[in-house]
Amino acid sequence: MSIFEIDKQYVAGTYKRFPIEIVSGKGSVVTDVYGKQYVDMGSGIAVTSFGIADDVWQQAIIEQIGKVQHMSNLYYTEPCALLAEMLCEKTGMKKVFFSNSGAEANECAIKAARKYAAEKHGADHFTIVTMKNGFHGRTLTTLAATGQDHYHELFQPLTPGFVSVTPGDFDELKKVCEETKAAAIMLECIQGEGGVLVQDADYIRAAAEYAKENDILLVVDEVQTGNGRTGALYSYMKFGVEPDVVSTAKGLAGGLPLGATMLNEKVQNVFGYGDHGSTFGGNPVCCAAALSILNRLTNEFLAEVSAKADYLRSEFEGAEGIEAVSGMGLMMGLKTVKPAGEVVKACMDNGVLCLTAKDKVRLLPALNIPMAELEKAAKVIKEACK
Ligand SMILES: *Cc1c(COP(=O)(O)O)cnc(C)c1O
Repeated sequence: MSIFEIDKQYVAGTYKRFPIEIVSGKGSVVTDVYGKQYVDMGSGIAVTSFGIADDVWQQAIIEQIGKVQHMSNLYYTEPCALLAEMLCEKTGMKKVFFSNSGAEANECAIKAARKYAAEKHGADHFTIVTMKNGFHGRTLTTLAATGQDHYHELFQPLTPGFVSVTPGDFDELKKVCEETKAAAIMLECIQGEGGVLVQDADYIRAAAEYAKENDILLVVDEVQTGNGRTGALYSYMKFGVEPDVVSTAKGLAGGLPLGATMLNEKVQNVFGYGDHGSTFGGNPVCCAAALSILNRLTNEFLAEVSAKADYLRSEFEGAEGIEAVSGMGLMMGLKTVKPAGEVVKACMDNGVLCLTAKDKVRLLPALNIPMAELEKAAKVIKEACK
């Protein structure tokens, strides 16, 4: 049997995979089992921040794996402590809880909000108000937070206490927060899975201000937008708001599983011993990998991310077959005349791997993608859109 056939027979059928088996890669180029090379414009869905098998990242992992690969959270390890310190120093947040994925980072954010509100305002203050068309994960609780009905249908009942509102409608947000005695407002500044939709900055700021005045926590999901992706360390920094809780994962450790939930001054002490936990969370190898990524997300590097994004945007704006370009930094959506899936297929045939999000072609290249590869990808994508 071929790998395709073995996978089809033995792996649970939740993924509709492209018919490509990737065996290796370096930087932004990956190689399939037949030796065909592709420019990777998806980076494992915004995960491989510095590309495939990056030297510095690899060295950090190898060094840590040769010392200790796991000890559980019953003991102290250096990478976990130093990563928490670095995250706090770079964001002004005060404490970090580590997990292994975006859904878990959000789960922790939700638990933090529920406990804070219950203790401060009473047990009936449990509702989390989220945005329609958002995406927060696949567990039953984060699905409830995901304001898209089609994800919900087959899995009822979901965790109660979630209401989604229409992004941009501040009056509705206020009304729902009042009616439900909301514990938190939870949102993405740029909806990723929802179609690379940059949210209205005035709305986000109004929501943040309203939340602050009413001691409702502002939870910003930076799972996809975080860790340099938008040209800022975290996208909320570009929207001029100060969240109480920030969740992140995807690109944080450059390709190893790591989630982080950051708590600001107001909520830093919400968790006590035993309130939350994770066997693998804060794993020293994953944390060492994340340190090697975050260390390189300097202001100069982030300026390069923005410059590459500007280049890519200028290539696509007004190009034949491209109706609109959305997104921020190296998180880009193309509204194409042809169906997005057709464009992605044509790109694949011509050696460029792209993603889709709803009706858009979605691009999430490695943050350090070399200009030569970016130019090649832009050319192939533009040709595929015609
Ligand atoms: C991918 C994603 C998640 C879920 O992350 P997992 O690691 O797949 O659990 C949550 N929120 C956002 C915004 C995401 O893009």
